[in-house]
Amino acid sequence: MKRIRPVALRTAKHLTAAALGVGLLMGSALHVAAKDDAPVDDMSAPMPIPTDPHVIVLFSGKPEQIAENWVRQGSDQAPNWPVKNGGMVTTSSSIATKQKFKDFQLHVEFKVPYMPDKHGQERGNSGIGLLATYEIQVLDSLGFKEPGAGDCGAVYSQSAPLVNACKPPLSWQTYDISFHAARFDADGKVTTKPRVTVFQNGLCVQNNQEINGGTGIGPKADAKEGPIILQYHNNTVQFRNVWIVPLPEEGAKHYEPR
Ligand code: MG
Repeated sequence: MKRIRPVALRTAKHLTAAALGVGLLMGSALHVAAKDDAPVDDMSAPMPIPTDPHVIVLFSGKPEQIAENWVRQGSDQAPNWPVKNGGMVTTSSSIATKQKFKDFQLHVEFKVPYMPDKHGQERGNSGIGLLATYEIQVLDSLGFKEPGAGDCGAVYSQSAPLVNACKPPLSWQTYDISFHAARFDADGKVTTKPRVTVFQNGLCVQNNQEINGGTGIGPKADAKEGPIILQYHNNTVQFRNVWIVPLPEEGAKHYEPR
């Protein structure tokens, strides 16, 4: 699919070309102008974490939380992801929560890098692995008119986002994910497929979407439970403000007066 470049980035490219052509004659001023058109590194504060005893904070900016709550995927080793300006930086291997989950609400904030010379799956690729089986894609898909099943907000390889909710690279973005795991009968056969709802930056990009087996981030078979994965996929992506609420199968059936 053809990438539609946002005006700001097209302008940056043209300015850079102009700067290269006449920069020697005009001094450094044009180089400064070109730089100023690149996306600005977002230093805004994370969203507040709800003060509720059900909330499990997996990472809120403290480096020690990485070894406390996460391992390198497929091992019991502590991850080697550094923390920069309050965000974990994806480095060399994916990480997995020590704790396993089934049905849950998950909040994650992510920042994709500015990679104007890369395209498609090479531009800010990462992902959120639900139960280590189903990936919600993280990618720089800014400006795509009709993002596909490989783009940001997709259930990777299965379901394209309903709308393109992407912010520019270097902006902090939010995912709010509600996940309902597959159900199995006594013989281990799937009776109900997993479903996911995803809000990206406050916009619904997956609406109670049924998932048909693993998406490639892990096993093909549906999972009864599993960890949350933050994917390393060759690019430097940042994550922060990761918290989760395990959900019960249903609420109470009585009315509790105050
Ligand atoms: Mg990915």
